[in-house]
Amino acid sequence: MKDIEQAAKLILNSAYVLCLTGAGISVESGIRPFRGPGGLWTEFGEPPMDGYQRLLQNPKKHWEEIARRGSRDSEFVRALGEAKPNPAHLALAELEQLGILKYLITQNIDNLHLADGSYHVAEIHGNSQKLRCVRCGNRYAREAISLEILPPQCPRCRGLIKTDTVMFGEPIPKDMLRLCQRETDKADCMIVVGTSAFVYPAAGFPLEVKQKGGILIEINPYATEISPLCDILLKGKAGEILPQLVVSIKAIR
Ligand code: NAD
Ligand code: ZN
Repeated sequence: MKDIEQAAKLILNSAYVLCLTGAGISVESGIRPFRGPGGLWTEFGEPPMDGYQRLLQNPKKHWEEIARRGSRDSEFVRALGEAKPNPAHLALAELEQLGILKYLITQNIDNLHLADGSYHVAEIHGNSQKLRCVRCGNRYAREAISLEILPPQCPRCRGLIKTDTVMFGEPIPKDMLRLCQRETDKADCMIVVGTSAFVYPAAGFPLEVKQKGGILIEINPYATEISPLCDILLKGKAGEILPQLVVSIKAIR
């Protein structure tokens, strides 16, 4: 039997299917990953890891730098602004609509799952289109917060407002971590797409599913940290493999 058909069967025989996505799922939408071949950090090296501490030390300076950068955005920010969902995002939205995929944890900040019709999405590293209060954790659409006086303040508690994207050195917001843990506890099958499975805590979720006897299916053109633990490796691009997997699932369900 072909690996894809076998994966489809395992998915259909599972009670609670969860998906974990990483930067790789958005590569075909024009956003480069950080690690691996073609990755931004592979080419330019890793950025400083104390971004959050520097924000807290001088929030006004942080916001003034963002305002100054303006149109001279980095390649990454430009790609985020231009990206559209690709067939991989669409396939996962369809799996959710079919009632097969119960929840999706994404490490991506690019909003592409929500833009393409997935509803049950936990954005563990935040969403680049939103802002969040450091004190009360409330999230806001960018347009909802005035940037006339920097740094901006939370309308609810007057705490410091930052982007919702989790910065280097910043703890994962508690509400998001609880949601991801709740979903991982329920899962007996996880589809792991386009992540190097290097960044914790997200990289720990597939390990937890495996430890309790669950199924792991990986979709990635290259081997990763967790490949040796996976029941099935579907080697290739997410935008090609995931639509085929959905076809296979629909054919045998
Ligand atoms: P990563 O950059 O560490 O790894 C990317 C993975 O995707 C690699 O394993 C690579 O082999 C794989 N890949 C490349 N092309 C693919 C394709 N077409 N289909 C499927 N897989 C493909 O990504 P990560 O594990 O998500 O960790 C990096 C962190 O950086 C994440 O936590 C995320 O927050 C952030 N990030 C986000 C975006 C985004 O929002 N789109 C982009 C880059 C980085
Ligand atoms: Zn607040």
